[in-house]
Amino acid sequence: MRVIVRRKLSGHVVGVILCLVGLFLLFMVFWRAWPNISASSNVLPSLWSYILTEQATLVSGVTLKLSYLCFVGAIFVFAGVFVLVFGRQIVYLSGGPIVLQCPYCRNSWKARRAMGWAECPHCRKFIHPQVMKT
Ligand SMILES: [Zn+2]
Repeated sequence: MRVIVRRKLSGHVVGVILCLVGLFLLFMVFWRAWPNISASSNVLPSLWSYILTEQATLVSGVTLKLSYLCFVGAIFVFAGVFVLVFGRQIVYLSGGPIVLQCPYCRNSWKARRAMGWAECPHCRKFIHPQVMKT
């Protein structure tokens, strides 16, 4: 049994973009906080309190609490990872030959792999063969 993991390109791109946006937001929060907390001896608690209390000015006039920014960034990263993990398509292929059956003449034949469309070797119709046995 061969397993092929195929990533849908659109999902992959969306996932990467979401991750990048989220990481960028988190990085921005950290970047703003760093000059104020780098002097303190306990970096993590002071970073946390700084994020909870301070506000960031995104555009002139629009201020946002750093905690919201952090939260949104984390959500973006999680959404991106989610899309990356679940945007994949796993295709199972059987290793041996399989038996296909024509839905018109009911004759069957062996093939290397399942086919969406094929020409029936018996009645020469272009058909959607049914998989009888793998
Ligand atoms: Zn046929």
